[in-house]
Amino acid sequence: MRVVVVGGGIAGVSAAWAFAAEPDGRPRGGVSVTLVEAEATLAHHTTGRSAAQLIENYGAQALRPLTTTSLPFFHEPPEGLTDAPLLTERALLTVGTVEQDEAIERTLAEGRLANPTITEIDGDEARRRAPLLAPTDGHRYVLEPESADIDVAGLHQAFVRGFRAAGGTIATVTRLDAARANGSGWRVETTTGPIDADIVVNAAGAWGDVVATAAGVEPVGLTPLRRTAFMVRSPWDHESAGWPLVADAEHTWYLKPDGAQFLCSPADETPSAPMDAKPEELDVAIAIERINSHTTLDIRTVASSWAGLRTFSPDRSMVLGPDPDHPGFVWCVGQGGTGIQTAPGAARCCASMALGEPLDERIDPGGLTVDRFR
Ligand SMILES: Cc1cc2nc3c(=O)[nH]c(=O)nc-3n(C[C@H](O)[C@H](O)[C@H](O)COP(=O)(O)OP(=O)(O)OC[C@H]3O[C@@H](n4cnc5c(N)ncnc54)[C@H](O)[C@@H]3O)c2cc1C
Repeated sequence: MRVVVVGGGIAGVSAAWAFAAEPDGRPRGGVSVTLVEAEATLAHHTTGRSAAQLIENYGAQALRPLTTTSLPFFHEPPEGLTDAPLLTERALLTVGTVEQDEAIERTLAEGRLANPTITEIDGDEARRRAPLLAPTDGHRYVLEPESADIDVAGLHQAFVRGFRAAGGTIATVTRLDAARANGSGWRVETTTGPIDADIVVNAAGAWGDVVATAAGVEPVGLTPLRRTAFMVRSPWDHESAGWPLVADAEHTWYLKPDGAQFLCSPADETPSAPMDAKPEELDVAIAIERINSHTTLDIRTVASSWAGLRTFSPDRSMVLGPDPDHPGFVWCVGQGGTGIQTAPGAARCCASMALGEPLDERIDPGGLTVDRFR
């Protein structure tokens, strides 16, 4: 069986690996997989621009099992994929003002379903863990202790390494321009020549609907939403490196330590065409104002800034598996704000759906397949 995977971000490399290799890393045999990436380097777009956090209590309910089923891979990756740990402990501290009581209750209720270690703590305990929090009255704090930093480059490279070891081929500077169904398979036209395949896997991120249209497949209505991030120096230098990620209960700002800096974001969601996203000064200014009003960080200068596109389906869950009208066209899009933390589980689920293998029993395919939009 010949498989072409379109896109070399985290969705594409993880799917390519899952099609080429068994969960333990052994080559599947009888499957030949080629990954095509339009850019000269892999992970150039959203994957290279994330906040690199794993939060079980996050994202649409239908996709949360994909994070849970990814955990064994993160904790114990198959032999030979990586030499360094993929996760480093970093708690998540959610802050709610008096007006955000409902959001805090929701965070707690949903959190306890995902992980019973999620708990409410008082202001003194919150400031002991995150000394940058401004002293305030009436605020509530929810701690998710088992959240973690993800080594995104390490994870991406682990999939690339496993994919190559299983016999996979990677073609960069190779953009899919069109795909035509020809009998039982596809002729894929790329900027570097045609490729014949039985299965085309669409892992093109913000370009997911563009690729579907180029293959004559009905798009799902993906919306790329721009999100801004920037780095500021920590007044506490390396002393703050182990503090939690701090986020407000209604997702209007967050920050997390990164060495002797903080990564900050206004948690913005501005609709965008698929493109190489750039940060807007106004979004950075909004984040600075919000963060300065809740913390003692007193941000005055920004060291660097960037933006990436988090791409969502209409119900904000992922779209995985074969298209009902074109079974050789397999969706792996709509990763939104959870594409890194769900990658091992989502890729395995996607390949299993396409190859007719059983799914992990915690996964309900109804909230993931494209059928729900047709
Ligand atoms: C600021 C920010 C913070 C985030 N924080 C987190 C976080 O903490 N945790 C988390 O899990 N997620 C986070 N995310 C989301 C995560 O980064 C994305 O869900 C994930 O990177 C999406 O990966 P992808 O492979 O689908 O997309 P991409 O990385 O964009 O990859 C798609 C690839 O497809 C290629 N492509 C497109 N069209 C074609 C074509 N026709 N032919 C060939 N190639 C093509 C593109 O060039 C691109 O390389 C964050 C995102 C942002 C922006």
